[in-house]
Amino acid sequence: MKWTKIIFTIVIFFIGLECFADNHLCDNGVSWELAGQRKREIKELSYCLYFNIPEQKEKSVEGKIISTFNLDSLQTIIFDFHSRKEHIHRIKMNGKNVKIVMKNDHLILPVVRSRIGRNIVEISFTAGNQSLNRNDDYLYTLFVPDRARTFFPCFDQPDLKAVFSLQLELPVSWQAVSNTNVIEKKEKRERKQLRFESTRPLSTYLFSFVAGKMKKAEYNDGKHFLRAYYRETDSAKVAQLDTIFKQVAYSIDWMEKYTGIPYPFQKYDFVILPSFQFGGMEHAGATLYNDRIFLNRNPTPDEELNRTELIAHETAHMWFGDLVTMNWFNDVWTKEVFANYFAALIAEPLFPQINHSLYWLSNYTSKALAQDRTLGTTPIQQPLDNLCNAGLIYGNIIYDKAPVMMKKLVEIIGTDSLRVGLRQYLRKYLYSNATWDNLIQILRSKTSADLSTFDEAWVKQKGMPIIRIEQKENSLLIKQHDFYNRGLIWPQQFSVKLFGEKRDTIIQVNIVDSLMKIPVNFEIHRILPNINGKGYGLFVLNEKDRTYELNHWCEIVNETSRLSVLMTLFENYQAGSILDNEFGKSLLKGLISEKNPLIAKMIINDINVVLDNKKILNRNDFEYALFLQSQNHPIRSCRIQLLRMLMLNAVSPEVINKLYSVWKDRDNDLLSEQDYTNLSYQMAIRKPEQYKSIISIQRNRITNPDRLRQFDFVSRAVNPDSLCRDKVFQSLLIAENRHMEPWASSTLALLNHTCRETYSVKYIYPALNILEEIQKTGDIFFPTNWTFALLSGHRMKQAYQEVVRFLKDHPNYPEKLKNKIMEASYPLFRIYGK
Ligand SMILES: [Zn+2]
Repeated sequence: MKWTKIIFTIVIFFIGLECFADNHLCDNGVSWELAGQRKREIKELSYCLYFNIPEQKEKSVEGKIISTFNLDSLQTIIFDFHSRKEHIHRIKMNGKNVKIVMKNDHLILPVVRSRIGRNIVEISFTAGNQSLNRNDDYLYTLFVPDRARTFFPCFDQPDLKAVFSLQLELPVSWQAVSNTNVIEKKEKRERKQLRFESTRPLSTYLFSFVAGKMKKAEYNDGKHFLRAYYRETDSAKVAQLDTIFKQVAYSIDWMEKYTGIPYPFQKYDFVILPSFQFGGMEHAGATLYNDRIFLNRNPTPDEELNRTELIAHETAHMWFGDLVTMNWFNDVWTKEVFANYFAALIAEPLFPQINHSLYWLSNYTSKALAQDRTLGTTPIQQPLDNLCNAGLIYGNIIYDKAPVMMKKLVEIIGTDSLRVGLRQYLRKYLYSNATWDNLIQILRSKTSADLSTFDEAWVKQKGMPIIRIEQKENSLLIKQHDFYNRGLIWPQQFSVKLFGEKRDTIIQVNIVDSLMKIPVNFEIHRILPNINGKGYGLFVLNEKDRTYELNHWCEIVNETSRLSVLMTLFENYQAGSILDNEFGKSLLKGLISEKNPLIAKMIINDINVVLDNKKILNRNDFEYALFLQSQNHPIRSCRIQLLRMLMLNAVSPEVINKLYSVWKDRDNDLLSEQDYTNLSYQMAIRKPEQYKSIISIQRNRITNPDRLRQFDFVSRAVNPDSLCRDKVFQSLLIAENRHMEPWASSTLALLNHTCRETYSVKYIYPALNILEEIQKTGDIFFPTNWTFALLSGHRMKQAYQEVVRFLKDHPNYPEKLKNKIMEASYPLFRIYGK
């Protein structure tokens, strides 16, 4: 009997494995097929997790998981675990030991151990370090989008929400924060045990904990009880916590009122971490923030607004993302679009002194255009075959173009219908998952407008329209062209100003076709498209209008129109129809007379691009004129920004000497410690003979130990000895040396500094060569940050040739990664790629 049973087991087991050969169930990562199959089978999932965290970061973290779930039929169970087989110590399923079988990134549990109804799987293992962000006296998990499986065995897909019950054992002097409150605490000599309350149903990417030495602050206004954990030592920065707490509380209230749903998780803590990979991450009840949330001295108004938007963004995620989550990461943008859309609405009344339509243009529209004009652009909704590629979906299109699209959608359906639709959507999919199509279906029932054409062009396809406007006899012709020749139409509304002999007029355009004719009964001398800034795309100016606007855009009185025309000129410049010198002169003229800080900021960003392209004539004079503005411009934020820009770009000896004095004397109270640190790197590159003294003086100025470690890491990249720099570069090719990603990116950018581009062109090929590995070992923004850090300083033809050679040598290179390269090398392709 026993023998028969064993044979039976083996047969079934091999049949089970055999089926995997022809499908994607056991592919590396988490395939769409595997996720779909598990979603159908696995119900009422929970994880009890235990981790033993040693004080020394070199020692391994031992873990145990008890996963329970219901099955309707007997199944082979496939867990995700991206680790080595020897890290699994024991598996028990429904009380019986199971042989450890690993295939690719999966643990396979045989069908014979499964049961109809409740199943219990216990696994003892050594936890992986990849997403544990271990430092000397603290660590934190960051599992988005599919990294929970690097740490513990689980079903790592957003639509299998589970109740998590966490227990941690850690050094007694450490604190720990997770999604829920600690409900039991035991101390024994040097160690302590913490048990956390069970969570509401969460996706694996939203489960998190932080452990280590941290300080704690609390806020209680009678309605909200909030806690902050931080490592910052600068008391002036820590004092900002009061503002941060108030903005969190305000954002929670705003979202509760808008959605009609009370804050849906048990508590709200946040942890502020040095060199955190992102601005923030919305783990339910335990948001993580980068320590940039503490603003430097003299923040500009838009830096303050940016921070408020970041806080509002992460808070809005508690409803959009955490409470209702996308089914699959192809729809990750649905949570980001609402987080950004609401962040703008939440922050607006707190900053009445800021012109918010300008802020929208500079913060969203311009960033969306920056990616959309490149050959690396993507649709807002991208197909995704496997979660291991989910990180590559993130970028400006999701964060910036999607909100632009959302505003256009609201123009069509109206704010009230949107609110009613979103409330219905949240209530219907509460603590569960939904797709964009689920939402569109709800919104469709609230409007008579055709959302299909809109959805197809704005959401499902990539790119932006090229729009030309001209007069032909008694008509104004508005032509919309699809750069990729697919015949797409982007439905949208904007206004156009027409200048005639005796009269000017503004007309509202509602584009619904590739050619629109509007009757005009006077002769038009000049056309200014998109003066309300609501249009999106490349508005092509004819030569006459272009020349006129280059000289006169800065005289436009209305601020939104002035910025919008500047952005139109910038797109025409990027498209190659305006020379660097012409544009540079026009920008400098505009900068001198500009009174609005947001427009001044955009002008400086544009000047930065022009300087980067290195084709401006009389550069020394141009830089000196900018330096004078950095000393005298009436807008304070503009002076700071000009200094920061000149630090990066200056080549004129006179300006370099001026900047050196700024750094040495440290008497410019506009600049922060971080600015002086950045300036020291820049000066060490410009003045190689003084490298040693510059670095040593700057080092002595830094007191915070986390920032000192960062300085010691990054400053190696500015060494004048090229062999030393080669060694630093070689070290970055090894994954463990890139563990602090912001440090690695800064180092790579300095190695490829524009002043050293001739030498560093040899870094391009090998750095691109490890991009696939960077994607596998790094966090979601790292491939983009890495390619930008690598390529931003390069403008020589050899650099372009290196990129082309790399792409030629890799004809089957993953498309999403290739897009990142095409985006970052846009300036090279713009110059040499024709
Ligand atoms: Zn977000």
